[in-house]
Amino acid sequence: MLHKNFILPSYLCIMCNRLTNETRDHLFFECPFARACWSYLCSQVAPQSTIHANISSLRKELKVPFHLEITAMVTWSIRKTRNDCIFEEITPSLFRCKKIFNDELNLVFHRAKRQSYHTFKQWIDAFR
Ligand SMILES: [Zn+2]
Repeated sequence: MLHKNFILPSYLCIMCNRLTNETRDHLFFECPFARACWSYLCSQVAPQSTIHANISSLRKELKVPFHLEITAMVTWSIRKTRNDCIFEEITPSLFRCKKIFNDELNLVFHRAKRQSYHTFKQWIDAFR
């Protein structure tokens, strides 16, 4: 990912192999791989101009009180899929990213507030 004062041989996005710098917004929201991941959850999702606008848009699309947990787990899954590609040479796939998301979300679910527990459980069961 492109950082100030951090020199790497290349800053190009490995997930889409485009001549695009891998910025935070590209990796998590603009990259075709990320957009495919988000489309599993929100059919109407489109990249916004800022990270705050992206999170706000996802909140409106997801319509659940635990939207931040879902958003965090999707971005975590995308990042883990990317890191596994770079450091473990594991070919990135939507299937693998979805499995990471499901595994991580199940861990988050066990720490969910009891008031959201039932709704969270229904959402997870419906997503699988
Ligand atoms: Zn990309």
